[in-house]
Amino acid sequence: MTNLTEQLNALLPQTQCRQCGFSGCLPYAQALAQHKTASNLCIMGKAEVAQDLANILGQSVTLPEKNHQHQLAWIDEETCIGCTACIRACPVDAILGATKQMHTVISDECTGCGLCVEPCPVDCIHLQTVSDAYLPRARQFSGSQTQARFAAAAHAKKRFEQRQQRLAHQKNTQKSTAITQTPATKNTQNPQTPLNTAALIAQAMARASAQQNQRIVPINRQSFLQNQLKEAQQRSLYRRYQRDAKYGNEQEKTAAIEWLRRYKEEQEKD
Ligand code: SF4
Ligand code: SF4
Ligand code: SF4
Repeated sequence: MTNLTEQLNALLPQTQCRQCGFSGCLPYAQALAQHKTASNLCIMGKAEVAQDLANILGQSVTLPEKNHQHQLAWIDEETCIGCTACIRACPVDAILGATKQMHTVISDECTGCGLCVEPCPVDCIHLQTVSDAYLPRARQFSGSQTQARFAAAAHAKKRFEQRQQRLAHQKNTQKSTAITQTPATKNTQNPQTPLNTAALIAQAMARASAQQNQRIVPINRQSFLQNQLKEAQQRSLYRRYQRDAKYGNEQEKTAAIEWLRRYKEEQEKD
């Protein structure tokens, strides 16, 4: 990494949100250092980041087009189906949960990057605007940085790097497990064993029967999962419109009441 890339990267918020069009803060810093992109693309960093980037690059300042307001993610836990898609999407490990169990956001660690929202199959993750000038809130644990902006970035970067290391370690462990298991599988058939036709036929029949079962089970399982997903999505929509009908603005209230009215009609038909 060049010195200039490092300097530019240090100015970025490190949420890895990709709203600049790059796959993270470092790739954006690298493109900036090579003068391949504009210095006002970091929506999360707002005007102060755009100004600092332009200054360091000796460019005139252009502010980001969008005025970003920080948001925190929260999960409608009653609707969550525990699929873990959000955990896999969160770059700073700010979501807790296990397979088929309710998930929750550690709000102090959330940077508001929004990357968990889209993968949720039942649409139960919401972003709520907050007045914090910088996120994550747990930035006080970042150590040496005293300015809130840099402390927040340092904390997010540390969490992101720890996650990357953990994922790389997991991948390596899986690879070495696969390597140690492969020869054992291959050695199950001893070439010296005399040919036993009856045993071979029995094995072939068992394989055919297993394949037949596999064909039936996944189809049923697939439709069962689809139904569960549909129901969860419906529950999530219902809860969202109920909330909008109570707390939304006028437009949201009207849309919610109309949706709930149609929903009730549908239920009465069934
Ligand atoms: S924080 Fe800024 S630089 Fe980093 S990924 Fe998001 S938009 Fe890009
Ligand atoms: S929980 Fe927060 S930090 Fe994690 S992906 Fe969602 S918005 Fe981003
Ligand atoms: S992606 Fe949605 S449904 Fe899946 S675990 Fe996360 S919050 Fe729950």
